[in-house]
Amino acid sequence: MSTYDKSRTVVVATGNAHKLSEIEAILGAAPAMDGVQFVALGELGNFPDPVEDGQTFFDNALIKARAALDQTGFTMAVADDSGLVVDALDGAPGILSARWAGEHGNDDANNQKILSQLNDVPDSKRTARFHSTVVLVTRDEDGEEVLAGEGNCEGTIARDLRGTNGFGYDPLFELADVPGKRMAELEPEQKNAISHRRRALDNLVGKLG
Ligand code: IMP
Repeated sequence: MSTYDKSRTVVVATGNAHKLSEIEAILGAAPAMDGVQFVALGELGNFPDPVEDGQTFFDNALIKARAALDQTGFTMAVADDSGLVVDALDGAPGILSARWAGEHGNDDANNQKILSQLNDVPDSKRTARFHSTVVLVTRDEDGEEVLAGEGNCEGTIARDLRGTNGFGYDPLFELADVPGKRMAELEPEQKNAISHRRRALDNLVGKLG
């Protein structure tokens, strides 16, 4: 931990190694991030997860980024919050995506619940999107700056599960960009090129100046 310069290191508030490398690759390439290092929060200590009790993806991403700064004393942190937004369910599961069927992270149960909720919904009304909001919080003696990027990946909810790649709702999600393909049928590089997180990070990079 002592090898990091707290003022030149972004703490990435995620336990997911894949997200860390994606965030580092995209944000780290921005000219404004020249010479800045990235480190996963978990590498700095075993910190408790903050309570994500916000009402929006932005609220919850901000809660995670601020907690990472409070816990480490670093000056820059990035966090994301993402989920599935289904039009026929008025935007649900949204911020509750990870625990839609009750237990946190039970992808199978979550997918089955969505399938049964949409059982009577016709194909034309099964539109949905993955959403991601990424926030970068920077603190200095003058206070705090918050920059946010948002990204969506459009599609529809299928009537069965297909594909073995990815995670979460990927086997259910038929992509608008790649007709006939589920998100879970894409190779990781293909998914990373069009994902909601990718688009949110690109959107954030555009605001870095
Ligand atoms: P997180 O905030 O990125 O951890 O995502 C919260 C929940 O949203 C996950 O547990 C998944 O259920 C869902 N989710 C987010 N991103 C994806 C994705 O790329 N594919 C499938 N499900 C996702």
